[in-house]
Amino acid sequence: MNPEYTHKTPKSLLNKGTGFLAGYSHSLNPYTGCTFACSYCYVRQMPVSTFRGKAWGSWVDIKSDAADVFRKELQKAKSKGPVTIFMSSSTDPYQPIEYKENVTRSLLEVMVADPPDFLFVQTRSPLVRRDIDLLARLGSNVRVSITVETDREEIRKHFSPYAPPIAARLKTLEILTDAGIPTQATIAPMLPSSDSFAHTLRPLVNRVCVDDYFMGDGSGGKRTKSLGIIQKYKELGLEEWYHPDAYRIVIERLQQIFAEDELFVSQQGFEP
Ligand code: SF4
Repeated sequence: MNPEYTHKTPKSLLNKGTGFLAGYSHSLNPYTGCTFACSYCYVRQMPVSTFRGKAWGSWVDIKSDAADVFRKELQKAKSKGPVTIFMSSSTDPYQPIEYKENVTRSLLEVMVADPPDFLFVQTRSPLVRRDIDLLARLGSNVRVSITVETDREEIRKHFSPYAPPIAARLKTLEILTDAGIPTQATIAPMLPSSDSFAHTLRPLVNRVCVDDYFMGDGSGGKRTKSLGIIQKYKELGLEEWYHPDAYRIVIERLQQIFAEDELFVSQQGFEP
């Protein structure tokens, strides 16, 4: 895939936290669009994608001069009350192009200079390791949540072929945890996994969240259903994993290894 990149200077970057993110004062998206192009991504059916008229994953807008805009917005928001930020809600803040564009890094620099009350970073990219220096300076006011939908690489490739390999994400969790950054392994959306998944995660994190399409897509699973994702399960003969109760398989496996207060289900795991 050869994505189309466009630089755009935004008028604002902070959006009000609503719906699933109602526990946050704001969400923050350094990019619009996402080249990871996961098959199950429900953002592909939201106006940001449908108005574009181009395949989700084939384009990304890079927010130019983001730090200057954000610095002022953050200051203003903080003058009104506590600021808790979820980054990002409709893209991955560590797009591959972030390697040279540094938009997310520039926003973290602003937050280090003028810290919000809390920052939740949601990503599946090992590139987040580059910013450990900044994340460390946010202390306990940050949590980095790494998406690991499965421990089975062939399953990851089937559902999300353009996203980073699972091994790289697990290594990233290890490096972040070793650096003292608060972390979470986020099994979302939960894909078919092996019974050793919990053992794999145990040395890497003290916090695991499980979410699925039925609890976490903001529509009780309807958005995901309309994407026809069931077909991807049928191709593998794993339809039993596409079910509102299937998450219990993974939770039960995790419960054998993790303490109750280390496990979170759906929205709980994303709260500030
Ligand atoms: S990484 Fe997130 S935003 Fe990007 S395509 Fe996948 S699910 Fe969608």
